[in-house]
Amino acid sequence: MICPACSNRFDEQTVPRREYPLRGKEQDGRHPSSIVFCPTCELGMAWPAPVAEQMDEYNAAFWETAQELTFEPKRYPNYYALAKARWAQIERNLIEKSGEHCELALLDIGAGHGFLGWAAARSGKVQLKEYTAVEPDHTFRQSLENTWRRSWPSVKFFAFASLPQVPGRFDLVVLSHVLEHLPDPRPTLESVREKLSPNGMVFIEVPNQDYRFKQYLFPHVLFFNRQSLETLVRGSGLMPAFLGGFGRRVAGQPSWDSERLGLLTKSVLKLKGILPVDLVADFLNRDLCADRRNEEGTWLRLLAGR
Ligand SMILES: [Zn+2]
Repeated sequence: MICPACSNRFDEQTVPRREYPLRGKEQDGRHPSSIVFCPTCELGMAWPAPVAEQMDEYNAAFWETAQELTFEPKRYPNYYALAKARWAQIERNLIEKSGEHCELALLDIGAGHGFLGWAAARSGKVQLKEYTAVEPDHTFRQSLENTWRRSWPSVKFFAFASLPQVPGRFDLVVLSHVLEHLPDPRPTLESVREKLSPNGMVFIEVPNQDYRFKQYLFPHVLFFNRQSLETLVRGSGLMPAFLGGFGRRVAGQPSWDSERLGLLTKSVLKLKGILPVDLVADFLNRDLCADRRNEEGTWLRLLAGR
């Protein structure tokens, strides 16, 4: 086997491994049974790796059963809260590099609800002039088409099903919770590098070895720590400028309905239709420690340039 992060070759029978936990309905012989770890960079890999068609099928219809087609922050303050925390990190670095009020063409790969774009559009410090979403899930793509032009008419908006369809270059490319879904992410990172403007930046967020704290892991196929993430990014021709862990010390899956949410936050969440969305989001992020550096925390965030 060849490690997709450090390219070293190893025998998967002799390296450290652990069980890949599956839900009952996933125990059909088509899902991974183990996580094997690269002896060099410690990347965890689902084994046997799911076939590409299985992953494509999953990624294209994750929200198939969703009844509504307008995902707005007020309805989903939990997702918006995390998007805000990511944006805060990005904005600090953008301003450091390009100054306040810089103009921004943003490419969001695996855009989902598109809330990272909302957080950027609401920024008073950076001028979002273009938001391009890559989203294989047709329900999300439809929602983005429905909500974006209406909510942000002054921002140019484009949506694509896959990265090779996207023309042009970008000041910021976001890969939030994308790389852990790709059995071989290096070609994607190499094309991302080609899509960066000369001064452009990539933002990456992945779970911080989520086998430590999640009950079920599918469809995640790669499990990063700091070392393996940095190795992959450098190997793709990108120069890391920032890498850190964030979030609670893991003792359970971070979730907006977690039993660990404080009483006050739970009450605020009950009033999500009435209260300002930023207030609700900020309460949620306080509970999740989403803005707090913690190398043992739930997520790894990385910023890199060319
Ligand atoms: Zn490796």
